Amino acid sequence: MVTDTRNRPLRDLRISLTDRCNMRCRYCMPREHFDSHQFLAKKEILSYEELTTVVESLIPLGLTKVRLTGGEPLLRKDVCSFIKMLPPQLDLAMTTNGILLEKFAQDLADAGLNRVTVSLDALDVETFQTMGDTNEKPETVLRGIEAARKAGLSVKVNTVIRAGYNEHSVQRVAERFIGSDVVVRYIEFMDVGETNSWNDDEVITGEMMRKMLENIKPIKANHLGEVANRYIRGTQELGFIESVSKPFCGECNRARISADGSLYTCLFASKGNDLKTLIRMDASKEQISEAVRSIWSKRDDAYSLNRGTIDAEKVEMSFIGG
Ligand code: SAM
Ligand code: SF4
Ligand code: SF4
Repeated sequence: MVTDTRNRPLRDLRISLTDRCNMRCRYCMPREHFDSHQFLAKKEILSYEELTTVVESLIPLGLTKVRLTGGEPLLRKDVCSFIKMLPPQLDLAMTTNGILLEKFAQDLADAGLNRVTVSLDALDVETFQTMGDTNEKPETVLRGIEAARKAGLSVKVNTVIRAGYNEHSVQRVAERFIGSDVVVRYIEFMDVGETNSWNDDEVITGEMMRKMLENIKPIKANHLGEVANRYIRGTQELGFIESVSKPFCGECNRARISADGSLYTCLFASKGNDLKTLIRMDASKEQISEAVRSIWSKRDDAYSLNRGTIDAEKVEMSFIGG
């Protein structure tokens, strides 16, 4: 086991499989910055063998959960073959925009994925296309969700709420999933990265969202380090990820690895820790484990708690993985 300077363990690794995406959400990869962006070349990206070595090296440190993300993880070739390579005792999850999910759901489940979180900001075509800056349709994502449920994956939906864009989604997305086992989680618009023109006035806080929903009651967290504040409304579970208004750094046990092999200890970090050089020097799992132990034991990150007092340039979320 390893703990950081705030006594937080390392439990959860988020792996960015690619920095590329088939959407251009205005709050994440605005087209004016990302259409001309230099994405990583294939040789810069960690192979599935290299990523598996990293994951196996982290297990002795206390790792219990891996989330595959990006960019859009389903754009990476043969993602199911990677899932099969990962230690089966881990809780294996993926965050996806759902555009390709209908095609892959059964194979993902067969490969050993346990859970999928699907991003869906609106059910009406106009808002969906405006927020995602895309020609895709919400119906495609809904078909992906259905396929994932049929394949036996446990499904959550992530809905980012941004003022002036999709406040109406608070009610509509909840209503769409009443009577199903899909948990809807609302996310406050965050000041992640440097390109999304974040502004305090565009944050709809969890508190404001809950006022838009009737008869909602808090319930206990499932486990330590859970990011969402859980509520129940009738038989439906709803979650609120209130990183701006109610920071949860105190229990943050998440590390992130970018597609090019840098380890980040905070979503709002400016710099990562290069593991790729070590891996490509044929380091043993023990050596990688020791390197991560040393990085994690010095970790002091608590960006959300100190928001407004730090002005270093932040890395983009599509690069390190959401
Ligand atoms: N492409 C995949 C997807 O959209 O699900 C995975 C990567 S994406 C970066 C992971 C999550 O981060 C998504 O649920 C997305 O909505 C969320 N996200 C991205 N930028 C955000 C922001 N500025 N504020 C809040 N959530 C954000
Ligand atoms: Fe792509 Fe996900 Fe970012 Fe949207 S939130 S641009 S789908 S990486
Ligand atoms: Fe964890 Fe950093 Fe987010 Fe705080 S700001 S919860 S330390 S990722």
